[in-house]
Amino acid sequence: MNYYALLKLNNFVKNPRLKFLGLWMYHITGKRYLSLQFDPVNACNLRCKMCYFTDKDYIKKLKGVFPKEDLPLLGKALFRRAAKLQVGCGTEPTLYKNLDLIFKQAQEANIPYVSMTTNANLLEKDTLEQWIVLGLNEITVSLHGVHKATYENFMGKGDYHRFVTALTHASELKKKYPDFKIRINYTFNEDNFAELNDFWEVFDAISIDYLQIRPIDRIGNTAYQNFSLEKIQPIYEKTYQKLKETAQKKQTILIAPKSIRFQHQQSINSVIQPFTYCYISPTSFWDAKFDWKKETFNQYAKRTKLAQRLFQLIFAKKQTLIAMQNKTLNYDIN
Ligand code: SF4
Repeated sequence: MNYYALLKLNNFVKNPRLKFLGLWMYHITGKRYLSLQFDPVNACNLRCKMCYFTDKDYIKKLKGVFPKEDLPLLGKALFRRAAKLQVGCGTEPTLYKNLDLIFKQAQEANIPYVSMTTNANLLEKDTLEQWIVLGLNEITVSLHGVHKATYENFMGKGDYHRFVTALTHASELKKKYPDFKIRINYTFNEDNFAELNDFWEVFDAISIDYLQIRPIDRIGNTAYQNFSLEKIQPIYEKTYQKLKETAQKKQTILIAPKSIRFQHQQSINSVIQPFTYCYISPTSFWDAKFDWKKETFNQYAKRTKLAQRLFQLIFAKKQTLIAMQNKTLNYDIN
């Protein structure tokens, strides 16, 4: 089952106890269920106004490069249980010099889905092709404006021409590698939402497999500070329907909230997230109890009695399960 199918299954199963039953079964039968989110370098070439890269205090702390010599240890610790490897989550992975080593290791460990999130401004066609040959299944491209002026306004230091060229190259490579996927993640606010109505017209020539739209979130003292969605509320559903209809015609999967009224509310889909979502960067590692340079995931799971913990959650009280919710995985996949 591919990663998007697993996400859909998690959305489909509404009962949190059943979610834990499924996760427990995946765990004890040795199946892959971890979603590895790996930022190999704490840097970005852009300064997007909605991003913490415009928060001076935050970026002072955001430093470091994942040591190349630790990549094999990371692979040994986690890759055999990963259903997905996401390279680049909150920073720009194309600034990392050893991406080929990461993809090579992921390929050797047979990770079924390897994705990279990028602003695409530094993406070269030849390099992208090498990564596809090394098993890169998908690029997710961040976008904060459909038209040039909005794009360059919101994505500080970004170059719309370079972005469109990279996307065009990726789309051309899809003809040679039909399993390779392109995903666009569009973060919207009151000043760039209306442009979504032009999305399919502007990117008509690009073969997009997944389009995610999501509202701005407060992630620090960022340059853009309008977090209100009030002006979008009355027009959201019409734009959503328009995007959805064309997405269906183009066979693009739209990942979006059906309504933004309750968008920042917690979601029951998120209860399994602490057990499946593993964030790794040069300065942080998912679970501090996991001695990843010395043990594998299976050894860690055995030592910390993870199977027992998951099993107990199948019978947990409703209040315990509700308290485990957070704001992630709060969207529909169409
Ligand atoms: S490209 Fe991504 S990581 Fe870089 S500044 Fe923009 S939103 Fe932040």
